[in-house]
Amino acid sequence: MGQSTEGLTGPKRRPVRQKRALAERLLSLNPKVRPDDVTAHYHKRGVKLNLQILEPDEGAPLVLIEGDRRALLFLADLLLAQATDPLDCGFQILLPANKLISEKSKYGLYVHALPCSHERPTS
Ligand SMILES: [Zn+2]
Repeated sequence: MGQSTEGLTGPKRRPVRQKRALAERLLSLNPKVRPDDVTAHYHKRGVKLNLQILEPDEGAPLVLIEGDRRALLFLADLLLAQATDPLDCGFQILLPANKLISEKSKYGLYVHALPCSHERPTS
């Protein structure tokens, strides 16, 4: 099985400064920003995630989440927006024909925050 080394061989920059610069770009730092706002923002910028299941020689299948820095920033932003969303516990990106997920992906994305806001208390 091949392993992606993209990103590991890029130019050496100052990682702390780079991380801070990326974090400052997160839309989800604004408490009013919801997952739909995040997807609309990154959709306009041509961001694409590649989602695959990899079958290693040993052990359980692996979930591959692949993309350039902007794509990974999009995913981080989406996860943060969903984690802090006051109105809904779940967000999905359905295939086919979603520009945020690469054409080679066979999988869409479903992010679900627990506890589920649709579950009724058992007691
Ligand atoms: Zn739920």
